[in-house]
Amino acid sequence: MISSDSWGARDSMNAWDMDPAAAVARARWLAPGALAALQRERLVGLLRHAVAASAFYRDSLRGIDVERTPLAGLPVVRKAALMRRFDEWVTDPEVRLPAVKAFAADPTRIGDLFLGRYAVWESSGSRGEPGIFLQDPQALAVYDALERQRPAPLRPLQRLLDPFWLTERVAFVGATDGHFASQASLQRLRRMAPWLADRWAGMSILQPLPALLQSLQDFAPTILTTYPTAASMLAEASADGRLDLRLSEVWTGGETLGTAQRGRIESVFGCPLRNSYGASEFLPIAAECSVGALHLNADWVILEPVDERWRPVPPGTLSHTTLLTNLANRVQPLIRYDIGDRILLHAARCSCGSPLPVIEVQGRCDDLLALAGPHGRTVRLLPLALSTVLEEEAGLFDFRLEQTGPSTLQLWLTAGRSAGAAVLALQRHAEGQGALPVEVRVGTLPRLPRGRSGKLQRIVRCGTAAAQPPKRRSR
Ligand SMILES: [Zn+2]
Repeated sequence: MISSDSWGARDSMNAWDMDPAAAVARARWLAPGALAALQRERLVGLLRHAVAASAFYRDSLRGIDVERTPLAGLPVVRKAALMRRFDEWVTDPEVRLPAVKAFAADPTRIGDLFLGRYAVWESSGSRGEPGIFLQDPQALAVYDALERQRPAPLRPLQRLLDPFWLTERVAFVGATDGHFASQASLQRLRRMAPWLADRWAGMSILQPLPALLQSLQDFAPTILTTYPTAASMLAEASADGRLDLRLSEVWTGGETLGTAQRGRIESVFGCPLRNSYGASEFLPIAAECSVGALHLNADWVILEPVDERWRPVPPGTLSHTTLLTNLANRVQPLIRYDIGDRILLHAARCSCGSPLPVIEVQGRCDDLLALAGPHGRTVRLLPLALSTVLEEEAGLFDFRLEQTGPSTLQLWLTAGRSAGAAVLALQRHAEGQGALPVEVRVGTLPRLPRGRSGKLQRIVRCGTAAAQPPKRRSR
């Protein structure tokens, strides 16, 4: 059993690790040296446990002195390899993949605990193989404490007056028909706090847009929580007069949020927005502070920004991918796990005073485009730059841009949107980066295609994306 003995005395956890809420509160103001020592202590405890209880890690860490080897000296793991050896990877022998899969396939059990103790979250596999992640009770308590304590409140006075959220109505718009972390957490919250059950609603982003708009209108939320692309889509519906909400806050996460995109959502809804970064592998990886910087919860999760050969990249440099080590969860250890996101770690400390490092997350769901350049060269275009060009120069927020050939792009918009300046802006940007002249075709769709998880991939290099291109209706 993982829940009792693995977090007991044998791992030499110090006293305040036993109460995650107190531990999270105290670590917020630790000096950087003390934070590193706390990370190391938790890491060694995790490694000892992994070697003792996971056959997978016993193999992969064989011959390595886990007490002394720095994290960067340990092997990198990937989802496909872990999923192939799922039963050996998990540290509780009662957890077996067929039973977990049957649980995760049953929509009536979203928010239940598997074997009465583990949350089960699936990742959609929109960029590769689907994964299934179990979270043990300690990890859930840590995530809850981080979610409650770390994001700076957008309306501190309101939270003082209403600490139990009794005056709020929270609409979550996302994927509601699978065991995805956000929907499962919403269901879990509604069970833990039944007085909130009617005031926190989940709505499927995959339903027809008129039905979604009607549900939102009827529910009349004060807080909207969703993906940035869905917030953009709803903001455009609001700007067109198809939706009339009185929002006090918008919360986003799960995809990259651009600066212009954020400004547009805030101005249309007339309220502030709080962004966060999380994953099925670790739910609250980073949260925004009072000055809007995204702080890594480095006391419980380690992120290593690395290049394509998993070598560290210096602060201030955008990584090719990122290695995640989850210090809170022991039922399914994640140690130097390639999460596939590009991040940038800031060298300087934030002006808010927090010692927690500041990160930026870029191009999470989006592809790098590779266009033809002169003399057979390839010119790479960053998804964040392309989104910024479309947002800032063409005022487009709800779009899908596909690379369909070496020098051809296809821009999909929803009906009624004008491509206006977009074609010229894209051509100017691509040629400015050194690409040969680019043809941009424009088409419209009744709605942009979202994956099972409800996320929208806005920048797609066809042939590399799992998401199928939509049925064509070019103009
Ligand atoms: Zn800060």
